[in-house]
Amino acid sequence: MAVLENQIDEIVRKVVKELKKTENTEISKGNKFGVFEDMNKAIEAAALAQKKFKDYSLEYREKIINSMREEIRKNIKYLSRLAFEETQMGRYEDKIKKNKLVIEKTPGVEDLKSEVFTGDNGLTLLELSPYGVIGAITPSTNPTETIICNSIGMIAAGNAVVFSPHPRAKNASITTIEILNEAIEKAGGPKNLIVTVSDPNIEKAQVMMEHEKIDMIVATGGPGVVKAALSSGKKAIGAGAGNPPVVVDETAEIEKAAKDIIEGCSFDNNLPCIAEKEVVVVDNVADYLIFCMKQNNALLIEDRKDLNRLEKLILEPDGKPNKDYIGKNVSYILKKAGIECEDSVKVAIMEVDKNHPFFKEELMMPILPIVRAKDVDEAIKMAIEAEGGNRHTAIMHSKNIDNLTRFAKEIKTTVFVKNGPSFAGIGFGGEGFTTFTIAGPTGEGLTSPRSFTRKRRCVLVGGFTIK
Ligand code: NAD
Repeated sequence: MAVLENQIDEIVRKVVKELKKTENTEISKGNKFGVFEDMNKAIEAAALAQKKFKDYSLEYREKIINSMREEIRKNIKYLSRLAFEETQMGRYEDKIKKNKLVIEKTPGVEDLKSEVFTGDNGLTLLELSPYGVIGAITPSTNPTETIICNSIGMIAAGNAVVFSPHPRAKNASITTIEILNEAIEKAGGPKNLIVTVSDPNIEKAQVMMEHEKIDMIVATGGPGVVKAALSSGKKAIGAGAGNPPVVVDETAEIEKAAKDIIEGCSFDNNLPCIAEKEVVVVDNVADYLIFCMKQNNALLIEDRKDLNRLEKLILEPDGKPNKDYIGKNVSYILKKAGIECEDSVKVAIMEVDKNHPFFKEELMMPILPIVRAKDVDEAIKMAIEAEGGNRHTAIMHSKNIDNLTRFAKEIKTTVFVKNGPSFAGIGFGGEGFTTFTIAGPTGEGLTSPRSFTRKRRCVLVGGFTIK
């Protein structure tokens, strides 16, 4: 018996050791790399770091970025769990996927492409040089992902970064910053290239935006923070809210459309700003689309009384979403509304009219309203209205090139996904690099290192042309 107990103890010890290896970081926590109590001190430290960093070669920058990717790679599970447990939003396993995506597909220094003009008068270079110190404000919905992605892009461009993270994701954000900073130092980079404060809040974000040593503001979040950034009087990149509609026309492959929509809508419980938030479907394929969605773990809410209870629960009196339910599992939400729901259900669907708040508001919950349109013209019109002029993301399932082209042109969104789940638009199962800062309002689109640079011209008169 004692032998058996010893064997069990040994197995438990081994399992715990393995878990620690995969779940925990090799870097000690709470080491306060780059974390200051005072925002002004944090900014001064970052300014000093950037002064040193500007003399590093591009090759060295790339080495630093590789070290950042490497250290975060070791800590993916740990950071995903931290963000999930702290914010109580989203799904742990999807956060792992999102963090992996930013590590692998955020571009590095290779993104900085110069332009050149040569001719009788010599040579002119258009170079992408650093802004200096960037103040970055990050959301609660993708806290670690945005910090990793912004850090790689901003440092690849030669900048230092001061983060003002969402208070609700304070610990996950600070830990990410500490790990990144330690990775930078490990690779021989300067101290405090990425900094933050131990107790972030809106007041400190304001201090940051007004500080004379902040050269550029990058705000990722809702309309409030984008407006604040654009009013700062500094160069600002604003990555704001979306309310992505999906249009399904009668030519679409309905089975695939249903599967893609449910996958995109349920990803991290609908937190991503690009996730499917409402569907407009042409009437003659609507029943079949709903049937196929049900085959893909969607639960149809048909009873008016159930819908009323759900509305009361997840909407505030002004029709805005109740924050307590943002990013929650659909089974949790429905049970709270007194509606029976299996844990395997991914999304609740319901038919509504185009004026319903579920259709018009960015809920960020796995609750997907569906509106019928008599034809594709009406569907496109209603989808544009639902998007609300955010010009963020739209999705369409169709085999008709003319319809696809028309919707893409008319809705004018930064991201337009054809015949796939929304996340293909940020390089997850779709081609191209990734970003978690999609700058529609200020026009940079999917940000990458070159978005965080200043274009500078360097002219040599009368030389170096051998045409
Ligand atoms: P939020 O707007 O509540 O917070 C974002 C950040 O802004 C936080 O750090 C917050 O502290 C700060 N903030 C808010 N108001 C501020 C002000 N007046 N001055 C200074 N700082 C301020 O956003 P959230 O709930 O964390 O994130 C969800 C929202 O962000 C959604 O609307 C979503 O669509 C949007 N989002 C957009 C993108 C994008 O790339 N376009 C990416 C992620 C999230």
